Amino acid sequence: MADHEDADQEDADDQEADRGGPRDATRSYPGLRLINTAYTPLLDEAGVPVSRIQPFRPVVQPCRLCPARCCRMRVVVSLWDAVRYASRLNIPLLAGITVGSSTHQTRGFRVARDARFAELNEYWSGPAELRLRSSEAGVCLGVVRLNGYERCGVYDARPSACRTYPLSWMTDTRQGGVELIRCPLPYGVTVSEGSQILQDIREGLDGWALHETIVEAWHGHAGDTLPSIEAFLEFAVPRVAGPMGIDAAPLLEHRAPEARLRDAMVDARVVPDRSRR
Ligand code: SF4
Ligand code: SF4
Repeated sequence: MADHEDADQEDADDQEADRGGPRDATRSYPGLRLINTAYTPLLDEAGVPVSRIQPFRPVVQPCRLCPARCCRMRVVVSLWDAVRYASRLNIPLLAGITVGSSTHQTRGFRVARDARFAELNEYWSGPAELRLRSSEAGVCLGVVRLNGYERCGVYDARPSACRTYPLSWMTDTRQGGVELIRCPLPYGVTVSEGSQILQDIREGLDGWALHETIVEAWHGHAGDTLPSIEAFLEFAVPRVAGPMGIDAAPLLEHRAPEARLRDAMVDARVVPDRSRR
């Protein structure tokens, strides 16, 4: 999703020990496989479709040609995704993550409505979800303009939904993935790319399983009350960060200036520091 230019670096990063799964390695997903369609065809390493019948001409690494269309969608993240995102960027969690109303039965966490986060006209029944922050125009704050193209400026920190878009998957018992493919070109997936995406899908599923466990514990802890979003994060973030060997305190800083995300990208030299010009 959105800029695969750093694929080699990404491969190296993926092999780092700190990437690790969200938790135990005992969870397995029997029969996990990608669902390849005409819009997400499987290719060999030379970029030739594995299936001979293709209604469209597939493109290898189409993100290089795309104006980051998928970065204009709402990106819901698990607690694990959020902690990885903020810690890799070295920013407070709320500098890059926002909160909105959720209808999900097991992922939504009950907190008091907070006008700082929830859009004024957004229906709020209690359960909430974590999302990547976006501009008023609905563009992810991680998007940067480079050489005339819009690219992901937080590539190594991007959450599971971004790592696996636009692929869908199935196991022997369930399936999941995206509802809407916004890619302007058929998104060709080579066998080796598919292996990496399957690994990202496993990590994403593990992350959501951990998220749901913590949300269940939170509901037992909070009972019938609706505590603040900060109270939820203080309860939940250490339970994710601790096993990852990450200090939760900097992530829980309550000030969340958007400049912190921009500063992180300047520090990583993804975008120029115009203030130093
Ligand atoms: S919409 Fe598709 S092609 Fe465009 S950046 Fe996203 S994943 Fe890549
Ligand atoms: S983190 Fe933001 S900019 Fe990066 S791929 Fe995801 S939606 Fe796009």
